[in-house]
Amino acid sequence: MQTKIFYIDENSLELSKQIILDGGAVAFPTETVYGLGANAFDTAAVENIFKIKGRPNDNPLIVHVHSDYDISTLVEYVPDYAIKLKKAFLPGPLTMVYKSKGNVSKAVSCGLDTLAVRIPAHEGAQKFLKYVGLPIAAPSANISKHVSPVTAEHVYSDLDGKIPLILDGGKCCGGIESTVLDCTGEIPVVLRSGLVTREMIAQIVGQCDQYVLKDGERARSPGMKYKHYSPRCATMLYRFDGREDAVKQYNKSIADGVKAYILCDDKTAKLINAENILNLGTTEEQIASNLYLKLREGEKVAQLIIAIIPEKQDGVMAGVVNRLTKACKN
Ligand code: AMP
Ligand code: MG
Repeated sequence: MQTKIFYIDENSLELSKQIILDGGAVAFPTETVYGLGANAFDTAAVENIFKIKGRPNDNPLIVHVHSDYDISTLVEYVPDYAIKLKKAFLPGPLTMVYKSKGNVSKAVSCGLDTLAVRIPAHEGAQKFLKYVGLPIAAPSANISKHVSPVTAEHVYSDLDGKIPLILDGGKCCGGIESTVLDCTGEIPVVLRSGLVTREMIAQIVGQCDQYVLKDGERARSPGMKYKHYSPRCATMLYRFDGREDAVKQYNKSIADGVKAYILCDDKTAKLINAENILNLGTTEEQIASNLYLKLREGEKVAQLIIAIIPEKQDGVMAGVVNRLTKACKN
C-alpha cells in the first residue's frame, strides 16, 4: 500500500472520509500527538488499528469527536463535575472516561464497560472529525511502544506502507498525549498525566485524585502497565540530583567509543559540561512539546541517550516525567 501525505483541504478531507467509510485508517494531527483513526462503530476497522500498530489487544482506544457531537449517544451519566470540566477545558488535551452505552464497537474499549472520549482542539482534527461525521477511535499513530509521533514525517517513518493517508497538520504543539481522567466516580481521577494538570482540574472542581497502579493490581487504565514511548537506541535515566553521575556515564561512554547524548532541559544543560546535548528547552510547555521530537531526533544520532529528569516535577512536568520514565525503562 502506498502511503500519501496531504495537507488538510477539501480534497484530502473527502479522501479521508472515503477511507474511513470503507473501513480504513487515517492518520490525523491533534494538539497532543498524531492519531491513527478508524470508524468507532466498525469492529473490523478498529481491530485493524491494533494490527497496524502491533498494539496489545487489552489496551483500549480513545474515541475522538467533533465539538458539536452529542456524546450522550455514546455514554451514560455525565456527572456535574465533568460538565464543569468540559466547559473549562474542551475542546482540548483532556480525555474523559465515562460509563459506556455500548453503542460503539466493543473492540474500542477492549471489553471494558467504560469509554474514553476526547474532543481535540486542533483545527485540522476538528475539520477531519466534522467532515467524517463519525466518532473516530484513535490511538497515537506510531508502532506500539515506539515514541509517539508529533509530525507527519514521524507517522510516515513508522507506518509507511501500512496506511493509505496521513493528514499533515504540521508539528503538534502540545507534544505529549492527553490527560486521561476517570469521570465514573464521585470525584475525578487522573489515570494518565498530561497538559491539563491535576492542579488545573482541582481548581475548577475542588478535588482531583491521581491514580497510582499498585503491584499485582488490574490496571484501571490498561495502557499504564506497558513500556511505552521508547526510542530505538539504548537509554539511561538519572534524577536531577544525580546529574553529575549522568555526566560521568556520558564521559565514560564517549571514551569507550559509544555515541552518547544527554537529554535534559535547558536549566540542567547549563549546569553540566557535555558536548552532545538534546536540549528540551526552558518552559514546561516547551519541554513537553519537545520531548518526543528530541527522543526521535536522538535515536537517529545516538547509540545511547542519557536522560536527566528535570528538577520541577509537578504540573505539566508530571506528564513529562511519566513519559520520560517509561521511555527509559528497560
Ligand atoms: P494512546 O491512544 O496510545 O495514547 O492510548 C490511550 C490511553 O487511554 C491508554 O493509556 C488507555 O489505557 C487509555 N484508555 C482508553 N480507553 C480507556 C478506558 N475506557 N478506561 C481507561 N483508560 C482508557
Ligand atoms: Mg500511544
